Amino acid sequence: MAQTTGPDGEIFRNPGTLGFVTDSSVRSRGSATSTELFTRASAVTPGGVNSPVRAFGAVGGTPPFIASGTGCRITDVDGNDYVDLVGSWGPMILGHAHPGVVAAVRDAATRGLSFGAPTEAEVELAETIVRRIDPVEQVRLVNSGTEATMSAVRLARGFTGRRTVLKFAGCYHGHVDALLAEAGSGVATHGHPSTPGVTGAQAQDTVVLPYNDLAAVEAAFAADPDGIACVITEAAAGNMGTVPPEPGFNAGLRELCTRYGALLIMDEVMTGFRASRFGWYGIDGVAGDLMTFGKVMSGGLPAAAFGGRAEVMAHLSPSGPVYQAGTLSGNPVAAAAGLASLHLADGGVYRTLEDNADRLETILSEALTAASVPHRVQRAGTMLGVFFSDEPVRDYEAARASQTWRYPAFFHALLDHGVYAPASAFETWFVSAAHDDAAFETIDRAVRAGARAAAAAQEDDQ
Ligand SMILES: *Cc1c(COP(=O)(O)O)cnc(C)c1O
Repeated sequence: MAQTTGPDGEIFRNPGTLGFVTDSSVRSRGSATSTELFTRASAVTPGGVNSPVRAFGAVGGTPPFIASGTGCRITDVDGNDYVDLVGSWGPMILGHAHPGVVAAVRDAATRGLSFGAPTEAEVELAETIVRRIDPVEQVRLVNSGTEATMSAVRLARGFTGRRTVLKFAGCYHGHVDALLAEAGSGVATHGHPSTPGVTGAQAQDTVVLPYNDLAAVEAAFAADPDGIACVITEAAAGNMGTVPPEPGFNAGLRELCTRYGALLIMDEVMTGFRASRFGWYGIDGVAGDLMTFGKVMSGGLPAAAFGGRAEVMAHLSPSGPVYQAGTLSGNPVAAAAGLASLHLADGGVYRTLEDNADRLETILSEALTAASVPHRVQRAGTMLGVFFSDEPVRDYEAARASQTWRYPAFFHALLDHGVYAPASAFETWFVSAAHDDAAFETIDRAVRAGARAAAAAQEDDQ
């Protein structure tokens, strides 16, 4: 297996040999145009991308630039086709360019792109979310998951008059300053900024605890019973790979927050309308005082939301004192895309999604078992992730201790065989309802090759 992670970013074999087909590789068309675009992009954009994981830093090589997508397939600018297991990191549950969503977007666009004034579509989107997710009585629409969690934390602080935010290591809530703190070792460590540009003061109001460790949460509350404004958690963690909450963990958080007068923020930006039709709430039934949504409810355009109990939401401007605003919030085209997606994603779609996640899980574990690669395929509803580990992964420490050095070889073998998987070992994989038998045949072939590459990988390759 050719090494694909050279520092010069040379990942394609024979990039100039158009039409030179070896075995089942579909990347026979080369990468000249992607490489040229990446060079141009790197001159005008830091790292050549607008969100870091797209740069392939964790796996090496040049990212394919995507020209188009339809159903479960995407095509790059050099004409290579891939079965997509990223799905824009979650939103595309119906597949790409679903005719019903495209029609709704086109229809909305012809009536004007933005007014900065209220429109009917945003009312309908809010009503749809409120109807679907029981604990949510009111919502505010925003433009990204980051805005949703940032606003929810501000509202929780405004509502409680307290300052401390409790979060979990490995849970990602967008690039909110206060939420970019990472755990040191040990329990109840006050957060250290995990990026330059976040001040110690901002991180100091954040306490970072190990995920799935209820005793640590209990101890943090006992140490500071009147200081904690909120606990924010991914309803099921999907940003350190897929790490579901252990039975009783979310319920325990609910109980502790209620006991100490803190708010529970259930971040369902990834799980909402994805893990099940009712998100992770539909699986464990634990209600946040505030809940955040994005990804699926956006239909693939920039839209997100936070919502919760009316009594809490009433503190938000203009009905209350906690300020929050957005020029493009509730944008009519984005709202149309989100509404169409939520309406088209009926019970049948979620059953297909569940079946497709089952199929992918089976393919991954059979191929990795056959190649004798230590692995765990972990599920959170229709979300799925794979760790190269002998043990179940229940927190960030275990995720980082897994054999992530096998991932670049695994990833590039998949890519070479026409499967676009997440470009990091710490990401969730996403199926859509559009993945069909032909797609699973491609996935099956690619994953077998990937498993062999993962088995052959050496730790010091990295
Ligand atoms: C993706 C994600 C976010 C951030 O959403 P953006 O739209 O990327 O800002 C927040 N929380 C969770 C759980 C996410 O998965």
